[in-house]
Amino acid sequence: MTVNRLLRELLNVKGASVAGFDLREHEGGAKTLVVHVRLYKRDKWRCPVCGRKCPVHDYVCGEAFWRGMDFGPVRVVVGSRVPRVCCPGHGVLTAGVPWAKPNSRFTLDFAYSAAWMVKCGLSRSRVAERLDIDWKTVGRLVELVWRDLEPDVGKRFDGLRKIGIDETSYRKGHSYITTVVNHETNTVIWACEGHGKEVVDKFFKELTPEQRASIEVVTGDGARWITDSCAEHCPGAKRCLDPFHAVEWANAALDAVRVEAWRRALEKWRGMGKPKNGDREAKEARRAAKQAADDIKHSKYALGKNPENLTPGQQERLAVIQAGDGALSRAHAMKEQLRLIFKMTDADEAAAAIDRWTARAQRCRIPAFVELQRKIRRHREHIINAIRYHVSNARIEALNNKIKLLIRVAYGFRNIDTMIALVMLFCSNITIPWPSCNAPMRMNKGKSRQEVA
Ligand SMILES: [Zn+2]
Repeated sequence: MTVNRLLRELLNVKGASVAGFDLREHEGGAKTLVVHVRLYKRDKWRCPVCGRKCPVHDYVCGEAFWRGMDFGPVRVVVGSRVPRVCCPGHGVLTAGVPWAKPNSRFTLDFAYSAAWMVKCGLSRSRVAERLDIDWKTVGRLVELVWRDLEPDVGKRFDGLRKIGIDETSYRKGHSYITTVVNHETNTVIWACEGHGKEVVDKFFKELTPEQRASIEVVTGDGARWITDSCAEHCPGAKRCLDPFHAVEWANAALDAVRVEAWRRALEKWRGMGKPKNGDREAKEARRAAKQAADDIKHSKYALGKNPENLTPGQQERLAVIQAGDGALSRAHAMKEQLRLIFKMTDADEAAAAIDRWTARAQRCRIPAFVELQRKIRRHREHIINAIRYHVSNARIEALNNKIKLLIRVAYGFRNIDTMIALVMLFCSNITIPWPSCNAPMRMNKGKSRQEVA
């Protein structure tokens, strides 16, 4: 095997031969290996967009360079003279090459390595440090890989039956990203900046009439615009409330009750005043009152979590609160009753249980729960639909949490397109192959390479 052939294999530059190389030494001892390659005739002069063979326009660009995977301590750069071509459909553009995407200064192998590392959970700064690139470039490479792996996102819309729509804020209170998930594959199928009816409308407009008609169930939170948009574009679909949203509401109401109980306990403790010297009984009572206030203060997680997931310490705290016969104890019991309704499998039984629950909550004299009861009444039909159409809550909640976590990480990239690429790439069943793993894993590889070549 000749050195040129070896270099070609190592660099994975298909469709070209190595014409020569030179090793450049920089100040401080760093080295760069520049490998000059020449495209084979069949891959020469192709439009980077459509891949069509085109006449050469000019050679003004001279030699172009792409950063490749390093060989140990030596940085590797691929160089090739690429002309501008004149495509009848796309105009004058720099010709495409098979080893890189248009307008990218990195080889595909390099881009895949970066995306692979991000998928493994390395932060953008770690990836940037390891590959010695700008952190903004890390985001761009992730986007590039997503588009290479999935040139046609519209495929995700085929055969949809159960979908979920949800919005997540990624900057406190201001900026939102709306995601649509396919409940059957548990993957994200669409993501877009913003929220509200226009955004949901935008999603439905991207679907063909057949794709829209196949949707049977649309889940989401209580937002009005989801209901409206769904009725407008998918009149046949059943609107459901994701049960975990209702449980979230209940937890918020419960927390309001807890804060109020804590405030009252603190007031009681303060009202006791400082005991006189030697009055042991008063001292003891005061200490107990402070303890009771602290117990309530630190009980947020003990109250909010499902009882089966509590730590021993949290169980103890909950037991103390349940022993007291106050509003907090009653509110906790009501939250648990509501949560268990969503575990029911029979829609009619659940409907009866909801009615019993709302009747009780209406008379409970705890303002937060009276308010919650009104909300549950408003969404009664959508809640029962969720049970009737077997919307599996645990999976939806898990995917939702994954999306939220990812968006928080992705916010570090400070670029909405990168954020969407991350969500689409990582909340899906696409595998990102490490460059040395061979072919079959790389989805759509043939097609997208053809587009470039
Ligand atoms: Zn073209």
